[in-house]
Amino acid sequence: MEDKVVEIRGLMKSFGDLDVLKGVDLDLHKGENLVVLGKSGSGKSVLIKIMVGLLKQDAGTMTVLGKEVSTLRTKELNALRLRIGFSFQNSALYDSMTVRENMEFPLVRNIKNLTKKEITMKIEGLLDSVGLPQSINQMPSELSGGQKKRIGVARTLILEPEIMLYDEPTAGLDPITCGEINTLINQVREEYNTSSIVITHDLTCAKDTGDRMAVLLDGQFDAVGTFEEVFPHAEDKRIKSFYDYNF
Ligand code: ADP
Ligand code: MG
Repeated sequence: MEDKVVEIRGLMKSFGDLDVLKGVDLDLHKGENLVVLGKSGSGKSVLIKIMVGLLKQDAGTMTVLGKEVSTLRTKELNALRLRIGFSFQNSALYDSMTVRENMEFPLVRNIKNLTKKEITMKIEGLLDSVGLPQSINQMPSELSGGQKKRIGVARTLILEPEIMLYDEPTAGLDPITCGEINTLINQVREEYNTSSIVITHDLTCAKDTGDRMAVLLDGQFDAVGTFEEVFPHAEDKRIKSFYDYNF
């Protein structure tokens, strides 16, 4: 494993007759931002659900931080999940709670020995990091879409994860807000030393946040490399059409 925080080998997953993952191999190296691209329904979310033990593969291995996820007992799986921050597509803040309460929630549930003062300092520090120090007592309904995303990222960071999983972080946002979220993803990596997987079908997001790209095509990663290696001169029609559509 050495410098690998995720190692995926020969991963297969079907739902009935639908073969979604057909032998996926992929590594996430320590400290890198890896972008996973693929059209809607190609299995991107399924892949990260297997990574956090919400789904089980049919064959192959998913090794995260040195542990094969599908073999873990509930207690070990919960311990592993605390080391992974995942913000799912459409994962929302609790509308009836303030920003502070939204952020306290994972802390109070998972870490029992913090004082009120320590909790407040942690929350204030993270809100500062995501550029929203003044929002602590606001309700989610008072925030814009981009601000909610930022708070969502801050909430995920509160348990100091080693790996961050972003599932379509810029979906539904305008181009300027997308740019801000991309900057935030890079900043999180720098400040918190995380390794990240960013799932997107936005090539601007991919280009701005990814050290490497991995394109999921027909159940396997065909093209893996830097943006320049994968996209501008792609010969595969499916990758080329992706690029032409976005640029
Ligand atoms: P995306 O790449 O858009 O994130 P998903 O990973 O969510 O795609 O889904 C890949 C395919 O697997 C889709 O056809 C989806 O309908 C199917 N799928 C995902 N989860 C389930 C499930 N729990 N049961 C049945 N089919 C599923
Ligand atoms: Mg998805």
